[in-house]
Amino acid sequence: MSTFKGKTIVITGAGMGLGLATSKVLAQKGANLSIVDYNEEALEKAKKEIQAIAPEAKILTIVADVSDEEAVKNYVAKTVSEFGTIDGFYNNAGIEGKQAPLVDYDVNVFKKVIDINLMGVYYGLKHVIPVMQKNGGGKIVNVASVGGIRGVVNQMPYVASKHAVSGMTKNAAIEYGRDGIYTNAIAPGAILTPMVAEAFKQVNPADPKAAEKEYAQRNPTRKLGDPENVGNLVAFLLSEECQYVNGQTIAIDGGESNLY
Ligand code: NAD
Repeated sequence: MSTFKGKTIVITGAGMGLGLATSKVLAQKGANLSIVDYNEEALEKAKKEIQAIAPEAKILTIVADVSDEEAVKNYVAKTVSEFGTIDGFYNNAGIEGKQAPLVDYDVNVFKKVIDINLMGVYYGLKHVIPVMQKNGGGKIVNVASVGGIRGVVNQMPYVASKHAVSGMTKNAAIEYGRDGIYTNAIAPGAILTPMVAEAFKQVNPADPKAAEKEYAQRNPTRKLGDPENVGNLVAFLLSEECQYVNGQTIAIDGGESNLY
């Protein structure tokens, strides 16, 4: 894969998990990074971890809640002011919410999941796309989920928000393909990040590791994914080598979403 030298990539939810893993892959490939998270402590720790493996990387940290449109405008403006433009956007920040049957689901938690996972992704698209139009193009990767392809028991708002991410990806692709902006989504299955570790705690509070093992047994590969697997896929989708792929939601799940 060609280098990302001189390219600027914005990554939301970069403080841990898939955002951090992808930041590390891109920093090692020479990208300038604008890393965004609402958890300031996690963000600073992430910066140190990235610098430890890619000392040359230029890294801008921005504390922002992606569900706040003003904060999104601000992370876009700060990135442009620091690096001049945005070549790639990993629109990743998201939360799972609490697991509960739909009739019992707490409406406030429901709204929060929609605000972050759906509106946060939308605000990102809304404010990054004009910068890419000026730049003559760009590449965007939104984060859906296997829950954006199939239903997931007890995760109604998460599934609704991730199906919406897949839909918004199609719309951004058909509206801005003419500007050289390619928009795709990824649909990770169970990749072992802090979010997924928390989900296993909800499934089996007494023994989360047992829940993890049981879940892995259901996967065609009999294992969970590694965050770096996702980082490598995202790097490809943001790279020069990836051309003419637009509006797709690409599963990275060991084949789990094909199971009947
Ligand atoms: P994680 O909880 O491990 O990390 C998410 C990061 O995003 C955290 O640093 C958190 O502080 C940040 N964040 C959350 N809400 C934010 C907000 N409103 N504004 C700014 N930052 C915010 O989660 P993860 O597993 O790395 O998940 C990342 C994305 O991938 C999410 O959209 C998630 O739904 C999606 N996803 C993950 C998996 C998986 O298996 N890990 C599977 C499918 C989809």
